[in-house]
Amino acid sequence: PYEVLVIGGGPAGAAAAIYTARKGFRTGIAAERMGGQVQDTMGIENFISVPYTEGPKLAASLEQHIKEYEIDSMNLLRAEKLIPATQVGGMHEVVFSNGASLKARSVILTTGARWRNLGVPGEAEYRNKGVAYCPHCDGPLYKGKRVAVIGGGNSGVEAAIDLANIVAHVTLVEFDSKLRADQVLVDKLRSMPNVDILVSAQTTEVDGDGEKVSALVYKNRETGEEHKVELEGVFVQIGLVPNTEFLKDSGLELNRGEIVIDAHAATNLPGVFAAGDATTVPYKQIIVAMGEGSKAALSAFDYLIRNEPV
Ligand code: FAD
Repeated sequence: PYEVLVIGGGPAGAAAAIYTARKGFRTGIAAERMGGQVQDTMGIENFISVPYTEGPKLAASLEQHIKEYEIDSMNLLRAEKLIPATQVGGMHEVVFSNGASLKARSVILTTGARWRNLGVPGEAEYRNKGVAYCPHCDGPLYKGKRVAVIGGGNSGVEAAIDLANIVAHVTLVEFDSKLRADQVLVDKLRSMPNVDILVSAQTTEVDGDGEKVSALVYKNRETGEEHKVELEGVFVQIGLVPNTEFLKDSGLELNRGEIVIDAHAATNLPGVFAAGDATTVPYKQIIVAMGEGSKAALSAFDYLIRNEPV
């Protein structure tokens, strides 16, 4: 058994495992895919102190940093169930889809999240070639260009306001007959001169020239007519889904699928900590996830030195 078992191998998990190993704790890290979302990212320009890197390169550095320590690193392992300890100081158990199970006195959950996809033709083909999901990350790449934001909830409208300050023109596309964002955000967006807002508009296709995005096709849901908007970028903002389905029956507190944590990265279950995109922490970013992972590890350390094994 481990003293600390980290589930998830993205930036949060890597930081957590390195921090607990450096405290001398027997640490294991198990992930379905080491590197996490970083593996799907092209240019990264906001990882402070590294002006430019690329996802696969950063993912390789995470793995290399983990290898510097005596950490049991287990890739391609998908957690299916968490069985929490029945008393403080006791052993938690994590069961994996291959039937294996691992035990640890403390568990750090860092299973991240995934962007909800539109599921229309062209979306997957042009991902990172005009189709983007993170305005904080990719917004500056569209300076002076035309983009669409799909989704009229808070994240979509915030993204549209953010992008309107950077790009030439923004078209906000909402499926529903009205925007669902807070009124103050909607008012702000409406006041911006380079923004068009489309409601009752169903995105049906992302069009391109084979290399990059050239247009967005949508259907007016009231008239049934199809329209084409010429542009260079499409930001999909229809929700971030936390990878926490496997925790449903564990007794762990979730809020809209996000693991509820406090300022110490503690969950409602003693000895179970969580960090990164899978949690209620605001702002889903690499640098935030790493900071949170280190916090969860230091909290696990604190828990382990204060509670005798039972
Ligand atoms: P993740 O990176 O999602 O890692 C989760 C880990 O958990 C993975 O190893 C996964 O395989 C594993 N896992 C999930 N479920 C299970 C399970 N049941 N059992 C075992 N393992 C499991 N942020 C920036 O700061 N700058 C950028 O430029 C940037 N660009 C981005 C571009 C794209 C296309 C995307 C998708 C995201 C981008 N982000 C960027 C966001 C950033 O990638 C995330 O905020 C960050 O990766 C979150 O780290 P994490 O460790 O919490 O989760």
